[in-house]
Amino acid sequence: MKRLKVLFLSVMAFLIALVSLSPAKAGTLEKIKRKGYMTVGVKYDFKPFGFVNEKGEVVGFDIDLVRYIAKKLGFKVKLVQVTSKTRIPMLENGNIDLAAASMTHKRKRDLPIDFTISYYFDGQAILARSDCKAKSYKDFAGKRVAAIQGATSGPNFLKAQPNAKVVYFQEYPQALMALMKGKVDAITTDYTWCATQAKDSHGKLKVVGEPFTSEPYGMGVRENDSDFRDAVNFAIQDAVLDGTYAKVYKKWFGKEPTKLPEVWPK
Ligand code: GLU
Repeated sequence: MKRLKVLFLSVMAFLIALVSLSPAKAGTLEKIKRKGYMTVGVKYDFKPFGFVNEKGEVVGFDIDLVRYIAKKLGFKVKLVQVTSKTRIPMLENGNIDLAAASMTHKRKRDLPIDFTISYYFDGQAILARSDCKAKSYKDFAGKRVAAIQGATSGPNFLKAQPNAKVVYFQEYPQALMALMKGKVDAITTDYTWCATQAKDSHGKLKVVGEPFTSEPYGMGVRENDSDFRDAVNFAIQDAVLDGTYAKVYKKWFGKEPTKLPEVWPK
């Protein structure tokens, strides 16, 4: 009897170990199918990639691409606000299934999450008041330069100009306010946002110098979920193939794409 009990307990322990070792974690595609919609983290403060328009709608280049991807995959979309700081943790925690949020993909960021192929090619620039005398990042020694927490921009700027004083903000509107009020001398982040702000400012702001880093954007997906990553990658490539990418690009940037995302042969 005692032997039987030992045998029974050993079999149970073996079964429990087997279950805990099996890859029971459902992938993002299954999770989305179960939920009925794809939850996508987008920016609300980074025109023209993700922002709130005059009608209160969340719109932009990232949002149009996401809507196309969802349609291709047959999913509904729920947009959720992320910031430069929250987008990676929110993906890791499962709060969002995809981060389409002006995010540069780089090796360090690829440790906790994975990335799609590059879908936009930017570089870091400087936005300043139009009376600013500086000609490039070199002229910002001893100056106060705003950057956003969680963005590549602050560390990049300090690498280029270690004598600058980088002042961090949570979101872009706060940094813009500080620049307008003269609390900082400039804001540093990707060129497209800087150029858009300069244009919208009616002569109050300008872009200083040329872009001085490479910032290729990738959408963030959860680590080790290649089925979902493939699906999103192929949808981005389909957008290039059927002309949607160029159309959406022209809508938000006012010109033809200078560089297209890579397309893998079928
Ligand atoms: N592309 C840069 C980054 O991923 C800056 C833009 C942003 O804050 O999202 O950090």
